[in-house]
Amino acid sequence: MRQQKLEAEVVVVGGGLAGVSASLAAARNGASVLLVQDRPVLGGNTSSEINVHAGGADQDGHRPHAREAGIIEELRLEDAVRDPRAVPVMWDLTLYNAIRQEPRITLLLNTAVRGAKVVDGKIVAIEALRTSTDEGFEIEAPVFIDTSGDGWLGYFAGADFRQGREGPDEHGEPHAQGPDNITLGASLMFLAQDTGKPVDFTPPSWAKCFPECEPLAKRWRHPELDRHGFWWNELGGTFDLTRDTEQVRDELLATLLGLWDHIKNHCPKCAEKARTWELTWFGWLPGKRETRRLLGDHIMTEADVVEARLFEDRVAHGGWPIDLHPPWGVYDDAPPATMIELPDMYSIPLRALYSRNVGNLLFAGRCISSTHVAFGTTRLAATGAAMGQAVGTAAAMCAKRAVGPRQVAERHVRELQELLMRQDQYILDLAAEDAADLARTAKVTATSEAEGAEAENVVNGVTRWRKGESNQWASADGAALPQGIELKWAEAKAVRELHFTFDSGFERGLSHTQYPYSLERQVRGPQPETVRDVRIEAWIDGAWRFVAAVKGNYQRKRVVRLKDAVKAEAVRAVVEATNGDERAKVFEIRAYE
Ligand SMILES: Cc1cc2nc3c(=O)[nH]c(=O)nc-3n(C[C@H](O)[C@H](O)[C@H](O)COP(=O)(O)OP(=O)(O)OC[C@H]3O[C@@H](n4cnc5c(N)ncnc54)[C@H](O)[C@@H]3O)c2cc1C
Repeated sequence: MRQQKLEAEVVVVGGGLAGVSASLAAARNGASVLLVQDRPVLGGNTSSEINVHAGGADQDGHRPHAREAGIIEELRLEDAVRDPRAVPVMWDLTLYNAIRQEPRITLLLNTAVRGAKVVDGKIVAIEALRTSTDEGFEIEAPVFIDTSGDGWLGYFAGADFRQGREGPDEHGEPHAQGPDNITLGASLMFLAQDTGKPVDFTPPSWAKCFPECEPLAKRWRHPELDRHGFWWNELGGTFDLTRDTEQVRDELLATLLGLWDHIKNHCPKCAEKARTWELTWFGWLPGKRETRRLLGDHIMTEADVVEARLFEDRVAHGGWPIDLHPPWGVYDDAPPATMIELPDMYSIPLRALYSRNVGNLLFAGRCISSTHVAFGTTRLAATGAAMGQAVGTAAAMCAKRAVGPRQVAERHVRELQELLMRQDQYILDLAAEDAADLARTAKVTATSEAEGAEAENVVNGVTRWRKGESNQWASADGAALPQGIELKWAEAKAVRELHFTFDSGFERGLSHTQYPYSLERQVRGPQPETVRDVRIEAWIDGAWRFVAAVKGNYQRKRVVRLKDAVKAEAVRAVVEATNGDERAKVFEIRAYE
């Protein structure tokens, strides 16, 4: 086998949504990044190999204004425009394209990490294998991120971890049902469609046979004829899903095809309608929910999420209910999921995103430091992506300053939070106060204002509706575009960079999904609220001068970099068109030298 030595400032292991976000964040903050992914596509559970709905804190639009911002929002908006019908492989492409466009990232697909070299409590190198090119890799870096879902890098490096459910006394959790080794299971799902003409389905001999409805219905698992199902075709909670995946896959295939056989050939309720339906895809790679949870300086608990604790070192947020599943999955007598509703969003501290005993290891996504109960909500795909952005940014900071993540949490966390907010990460109930932002010292006025959406809101440091406050400037109802907003200083400032945070419709859901009912509620395309065309002018020597224009925008965050700084007493943004809304809406404007 050919051997290669590689190095980078940040190495990310696992290219699910958490790993993609972490890689983009680290690279955009100046680090050279190596992203190692053992599959041919990016996206992990949300990829076309598994087809999990990429949900998050906004509960698919049911908790308005809670959606993650930052990198995951950028990817969602890109996907909604390039992939209006939410075709599974187009999401893979959206992620691949984002990574490929980033010159500081080297992507190793089809490459599995299988070992780590640790010296004095720190990973110095990892070992990886790519059989498609007959290559083994030794990859060195000062900082590593484990986004493998299963916590493989942590495991190879000897990081403390936990698998299974805690007992109620361990962290005082009312819903803890352990201690034991039970986890949430893995699932195989399908896609199906109505072809308009009869289609037969003959199950393989090894498929399970469910001839009657009653036993399935009694167990809350009678299948409906659906285009995408069934997340509850789940098994493995009583297995070890780091070791038994092949066996679990075989069993899940047998139940999946048995359930489809029931719909097509046995069910008096569905069979007639299902005559013209066919399976167009089903998974071969079990989507895993829970395996190892690597332990950090803080372990997130039920109380943290139920009481919505605001951690000083919060760097990401969540908001999905605590969503727990019974141990025997599709064979369990209990309902497939129990939801414990959360009153509000909650915050995720940096201390839950790095290892307590491996000095240069951060993590995000499924393998973070949380109890089984808290994991019921932290495991959401977009929540993991938000964590990914946080740890990627923190890792770039670690690499630049030659410090470990614990030092970032202890000494530099406010700086990290500011940097994250500058890049549109949402930090729950923390207002940005970036001293370098010139907009903060400007007087802000607008050509018109809607009530409760005044011009000064664009410098209040908050970039979404929260607690009834709009935190945005919106032009008045009935005032036709163009509408302008102006920042004016007492004395001229050198301005080279302007940041805009537009409205992208956080009151609705938006995610890559195969669920028809979720897709129907989304706008697949540019979001109508988002500013499309804006002209930027600067007041120089007693006159407004054109300095830049944004055309055809559909992103929430837009950074406009001028070739040369302008020395201006004022700048104004004139919104000429949106993607549908009659009003101009802007959450934030920042200005930098
Ligand atoms: C059936 C099912 C339904 C779900 N429903 C929802 C839902 O409706 N909404 C929602 O938001 N979430 C849902 N989830 C949870 C969600 O999918 C996951 O928690 C989330 O996607 C985890 O993201 P991640 O990036 O942490 O890990 P993953 O998506 O697991 O990605 C990790 C990646 O790392 C790779 N990897 C692993 N080991 C190695 C290695 N040694 N070397 C290199 N690469 C490696 C893996 O192949 C994988 O691609 C569901 C999960 C399942 C299984």
